[in-house]
Amino acid sequence: MRTPFVVGNWKLNKTISEALALVTELKNQLGAVKGVAVGVAPTFVALNSVAKRLEGSSIATCSQDCFWENTGAFTGEVSAPMLADAGATWAIVGHSERRQFFGDTNESVGKKARAALAGGLGAIVCVGEMLAERDAGRTLDVVDAQLAGGLDGIDGAVAAQRVVIAYEPVWAIGTGRTATPAQAQEVHAHIRKRLVEKFGQATAQAVRIQYGGSVKPSNAEALMAEADIDGALVGGASLEAADFVAIVKAARPG
Ligand code: PEP
Repeated sequence: MRTPFVVGNWKLNKTISEALALVTELKNQLGAVKGVAVGVAPTFVALNSVAKRLEGSSIATCSQDCFWENTGAFTGEVSAPMLADAGATWAIVGHSERRQFFGDTNESVGKKARAALAGGLGAIVCVGEMLAERDAGRTLDVVDAQLAGGLDGIDGAVAAQRVVIAYEPVWAIGTGRTATPAQAQEVHAHIRKRLVEKFGQATAQAVRIQYGGSVKPSNAEALMAEADIDGALVGGASLEAADFVAIVKAARPG
């Protein structure tokens, strides 16, 4: 059985004091939640404060990105060892907004994933097609290329413990338009098949595959009921404690 993992991606939102207010509510409300792993991904500048506030809870602090070099002349970047030092335990890599606006490619996402793992973090590797790609019947090809790049050079034993895939159809991110549970499950099952081919059955069954794209309290339960949907990467609805808590509770098995 895979423990579902629900992560709130706060994107470019929340000052440090706003982040602390939200995370304090989450700590109070989710402190006793069982059967589901939870994480939040604040901005880099709020990450250390959030991690400190979450000490003593099981809620993980995640970064929204991670550079592939550890140190050096890379103005504006933040490395995996620095993120770990600040209190992060997971890094999101390859989010569609990074691919769309900041030039991340399948190859660079793989470099970031390997760097996150080498730095002791878990890696949440995001994949997902754009609307035109879905309409052209290319969804699975696009996801295959993103998986091949994002997982390149990653060892199965490491993947089983510390790699999560987030399937996020780009047309569903921040649009209010969610993939139906059946649409999502079709792609999740395909990803699982690719994981079996790459890592073998045991590892493929251990890797969690999150769904992301306009997940809300009203649609979370139906999505999580699908066999290969193991939690969620939540954007907009993670900015309000009540909505995020409801989504986390919907992800609990049984
Ligand atoms: C995301 O940012 O990963 C995301 C899925 O956003 P939203 O939930 O707002 O669609």
